Amino acid sequence: MPHKNEFLNLDNTANAFAYKTDKELIASKWLFTLMKMGILVKLGANILPFLIEIGLPIKKLIKKTLFKQFVGGETLEKTSSVCEKLNNHNVQVILDYGIEGGEYSDEKYEQATDEFIDVINYASNNKNTPFISIKITGLVSFSLLERLNISIGDATSNTIFNDFAPIIQRLPEKDKLDWDKLNIRISRICKKASESGIGVMIDAEESWIQDPIDFITMSMMEQYNKSNVVVYNTIQLYRTDRLSFLKHSYEESVRKAHLLGVKLVRGAYMEKESKRANQLGYNNPIQPTKFATDKDYNEALTYCIERIEKISIIVASHNEESSLKAANMLFDLSEKTNHQHLHFSQLYGMSDNLTFNLANAGYNASKYLPFGPVEEVIPYLMRRAQENSSLSGQTGRELKLIIQECNRRGI
Ligand SMILES: Cc1cc2nc3c(=O)[nH]c(=O)nc-3n(C[C@H](O)[C@H](O)[C@H](O)COP(=O)(O)OP(=O)(O)OC[C@H]3O[C@@H](n4cnc5c(N)ncnc54)[C@H](O)[C@@H]3O)c2cc1C
Repeated sequence: MPHKNEFLNLDNTANAFAYKTDKELIASKWLFTLMKMGILVKLGANILPFLIEIGLPIKKLIKKTLFKQFVGGETLEKTSSVCEKLNNHNVQVILDYGIEGGEYSDEKYEQATDEFIDVINYASNNKNTPFISIKITGLVSFSLLERLNISIGDATSNTIFNDFAPIIQRLPEKDKLDWDKLNIRISRICKKASESGIGVMIDAEESWIQDPIDFITMSMMEQYNKSNVVVYNTIQLYRTDRLSFLKHSYEESVRKAHLLGVKLVRGAYMEKESKRANQLGYNNPIQPTKFATDKDYNEALTYCIERIEKISIIVASHNEESSLKAANMLFDLSEKTNHQHLHFSQLYGMSDNLTFNLANAGYNASKYLPFGPVEEVIPYLMRRAQENSSLSGQTGRELKLIIQECNRRGI
């Protein structure tokens, strides 16, 4: 059992909300109160895109509420005031250009690649933005990834790294060409990031497209993680097979003599995963209980921190127990709080008590900060609203902490 870092107090709401004015805090209180009314959220998810389409002035309302709480700005430049505010509290930023996966034209994927490169340029000129985040489905069609995943078929996560190359060779010409284009796009991004000293976190997505994402991410790591960690894969511990996949990724990285970068998450697509598995009649890849997810998440943390010189870890979670565990393990190991291979990250607008108190105690803590035009980030905003309408889990604590701070300030 690691000993506690006595300087770390995750309940300190004065630190957690110091970056918010009284007016902003009251606005957050109302927003979280409204989000708790789940019916509003469900209605919003269904009718918002329609209301915007028919030209109702709903955009302004969203911009002043959900957008302000969870998004950095409509453009990269407009996020700078949020970045600055966070920097004043030693909180770093992971920039997320909010393109959602879909079926787009090559032109749009090239544009997205250029945009990511602009984000890297911007990040390298800002001292508190050490990472950017990307989704592979923003760079290539979802359906190609799905076909590739099917071609891999029975290859287990332990053999995928070796079995993938011959599979590409057997693809139809058009798919081979699209795969090559994806490789060029992702290589451009990682090369630029490597030259600029910026880390690239590659998001994990649905299990039925994840194998090719893992493969391409590991191949980028092999190229760019030789002396320091540039590329990070995301491990979703809500999947039953991911703890063993993590261990195998580490063994692969040792065999190929590069460092491993991992962002540890529980996972964002649980309902979708279970529904699809039920409909198509295959084994649900998701853990049977929350307890099982938590157990694997915490085991993954231990596994990685025990190898901290070889694995760079992003603890991407709003879970207090897991965050404390990682913070205390590092402290126990080194009596230090800031190791270059351990970062904590929460979504902007959520769990400020973790981010700001960790940063205040000297840990590397960051906010995952999306930006983009209002219409494009609506799916992201709806996911946040849905997450915060749940009465259980860590996110349920948000409103309680905000009210606690309002009471402390007497507002
Ligand atoms: C910086 C950052 C980056 C992220 N990147 C990604 C990403 O690339 N891909 C991705 O998928 N997600 C990503 N996420 C989202 C993340 O997966 C969710 O925020 C997270 O699942 C919520 O869990 P938590 O660790 O905050 O803690 P908690 O609130 O304690 O856990 C909730 C999670 O536990 C799991 N869970 C809940 N109930 C059950 C159950 N009955 N059985 C099994 N499991 C259950 C689900 O994953 C659920 O989301 C990211 C989050 C952050 C903060």
